[in-house]
Amino acid sequence: MTRRSKSTPDRVADLWGDRTPYGPGERWPVRVDMHLADGVAETDVERWVQTASILHSNGDALDIAVRDDRIAGVRGRAVDRVNRGRVGVKDLYGWQANASPDRLTRPLVREDGELVETDWDTAMERIVGRTNELLEEQGPSAIGFYTTGQLFAEEYYTLGVIAHGGIRTNHVDGNTRLCTATAAAALKASFGCDGQPGSYADIDHADVICLYGHNMAETQSVTWMRILDRLAGDDPPQLLCVDPRPTPVAEHATLHLAPRPGTNLALMNGLIHELLAAGHVDHDYVDQHTVGYASLEQQVADYPAERVAEICDVPAEQIRAAARLIGSAERLMSTVLQGFYQSNQATAAAVQVNNIHLLRGMLGRPGCGVLQMNGQPTAQNTRECGADGDLAAFRNWSNSAHVEDLARIWNVDPMDIPHYTAPTHAMQIMRYVEEGSIRLLWVSGTNPAVSLPELRRIRSILSQERLTLVVQDIFLTETAQLADVVLPAATWGEKTGTFTNTDRTVHLSEKAVEPPGEARPDLDIFIDYARRLGLKDKDGEPLITWHDPESAFEAWKECTRGRPCDYTGFTYDKLRGGSGIQWPCNEAHPDGTERLYSDGKFWASPDYCENYGRDLVTGAPKDATEYKAMNPEGKAMLKGAEYVPAHECPDDQYPLHLITGRTIYHFHTRTKTGRAPELQSAAPEVWVEISAADAAAAGITDGDGTLITTPRGRVRAAARITGIRQGVIFLPFHYGYWDSASGPGPDEDAPATAANELTPTDWDPVSKQPIFKTAAARITRIADDGDTARSEAATALAGGAS
Ligand code: SF4
Repeated sequence: MTRRSKSTPDRVADLWGDRTPYGPGERWPVRVDMHLADGVAETDVERWVQTASILHSNGDALDIAVRDDRIAGVRGRAVDRVNRGRVGVKDLYGWQANASPDRLTRPLVREDGELVETDWDTAMERIVGRTNELLEEQGPSAIGFYTTGQLFAEEYYTLGVIAHGGIRTNHVDGNTRLCTATAAAALKASFGCDGQPGSYADIDHADVICLYGHNMAETQSVTWMRILDRLAGDDPPQLLCVDPRPTPVAEHATLHLAPRPGTNLALMNGLIHELLAAGHVDHDYVDQHTVGYASLEQQVADYPAERVAEICDVPAEQIRAAARLIGSAERLMSTVLQGFYQSNQATAAAVQVNNIHLLRGMLGRPGCGVLQMNGQPTAQNTRECGADGDLAAFRNWSNSAHVEDLARIWNVDPMDIPHYTAPTHAMQIMRYVEEGSIRLLWVSGTNPAVSLPELRRIRSILSQERLTLVVQDIFLTETAQLADVVLPAATWGEKTGTFTNTDRTVHLSEKAVEPPGEARPDLDIFIDYARRLGLKDKDGEPLITWHDPESAFEAWKECTRGRPCDYTGFTYDKLRGGSGIQWPCNEAHPDGTERLYSDGKFWASPDYCENYGRDLVTGAPKDATEYKAMNPEGKAMLKGAEYVPAHECPDDQYPLHLITGRTIYHFHTRTKTGRAPELQSAAPEVWVEISAADAAAAGITDGDGTLITTPRGRVRAAARITGIRQGVIFLPFHYGYWDSASGPGPDEDAPATAANELTPTDWDPVSKQPIFKTAAARITRIADDGDTARSEAATALAGGAS
């Protein structure tokens, strides 16, 4: 039965909607969600235009309602495998941001310190002129690109070709570095290549579902609806939740472990120790399909439950119970997100989840999957297309045959493609800008002045005189306010392209309306840049041979031929009208591929794998010889690692763990969701979550103004007393300054609200993902007259945080 609902403002309160229960192995029932602008009825809609969600990684298929050439609402696509008609709260309301009156509509350039409107020729020539100057004076390494997880595959591929094949810089990364670089690193470490083994459909079959550091209820709310529907049906799955917060996932969990921040790896080692001790190992699978068992066994031998209980401050009996739950599963599904990815020893901890599935032989069958989740809608494409620095289509930068193959496709000399060292990651790009070796930084679709750690430092880096900062965005973000050139971009609904969600489902997103003013699709901007620069292949022909989204897609398809993420079986037409389709999609798999590794074969052979791996503790890269010695036949790799404490732990001065995260109502730095009235009013300002015991110790009651301090700065936030574990405080990271009067950062009258004023410059040694979950902090109550806050904020602005 299909259920259809016209959503109402109540949907903000009723976040996951009505239940449509179903049992194991059954098909998830359809429920179509819809929200239309006030006064618009379904019959008023002139046309529906196919797309998918852009405010998270779930890939929920939608149709955009168009009326009078404007977006008038959205409706879920019942036919789609991902959401079967459902739409999360952000997508139901977030589309309104497209029509916000403060959209950027003309290019801006900085003149005498002020950003002033100009035409496209002037703005582009300024960028092209500076690019040419720098190429001549300093070479390609003077230029860096920092992109996003929100453009389309066609746009990333074009950017990757320009940067790697045309300009020849190694400094290209995406904000996916902050988000899911660890997902990619963990998949490469275990399976030899990026690409999620599992499928959302595994939820329909699993009897145990483990969510590691993944508040799915708020981050992928539609997939959480799928789990809620299983929980409401016959023979529901059991849930394991690992999270220090009392999230909705924790509330529904059979077992909730709340470890001390920074100790995930110790916990995972303890779980594997217990699994091995109880004999929950599929030795046939391990023998046939993996390498590394003996060393993993040796590694976890030191992690009995009692020791782990001490490190993690979780009762030993809970650890054993969790291992029993995992060990008893007949169909085990696991998901992982920021609680692991943005914490101490991120990749090493995420890899242990893969290890559990390999040890239990639970991969590639219905209900047996791992989803190392993405956060952003197109993060997978940033990684696939080479816009995160890796070479396109999961080619291995340290395998010269892969570089030569790419050079053949682009018709450039292999030596022109930078592969002398690992791609420069985002945090290192910022360091190069700080030190002055990168002199032009082009930021597209992201807002590092709020999203990167240690914001005072980032603002100072981005404001440097010697830096030419180009920002391509849809609003005048905090970062755009610091730019020398601002390019107004078109967004979702205003341009066409494809994107790929967490479980490899590719969707086509079609243009529904014109972009405002002179805003242009990111693809057009990149192609224009390449044309103006005169980028050529080795025969003197234009490097970029495509001119629109579909021709860019065809070029991208060719680049993927024979690689794991093979798109050659897709066409725009095939993606129109039906469900999204999972890659690889090619001649052998014309309807796509629901699960990877069903045959126990991995993309890990030395001549095919995406990289040769890194040491999980130090991050030191392995070379081809080491890899071949370890894994000559390309099996999956069981890898252990010892627990090492976080770099910054609480002490007398800063006695609490600060962790940051997000709310269901907002995306990133609220550039879109803060302009959707329902979402903004649901979560209008920053708050801090604190346990009752810590609040009482600091004399804080619910709703009090507080000041949170770390060695890097202070943030003011209202207290919410929750069941968060004692000793931990939580701040949402969405609240920057674009809607305050203070410019790109805080001032004395507008106290700091961005959580990243407080976070450290620190990253995981393997994935290079910044650590947002292990800062040491203290919290104080602000006096009723606010004087404490004002004087302390002034001190912080003057430079003294502690
Ligand atoms: S909110 Fe978090 S998970 Fe989502 S895209 Fe941003 S960094 Fe990734």
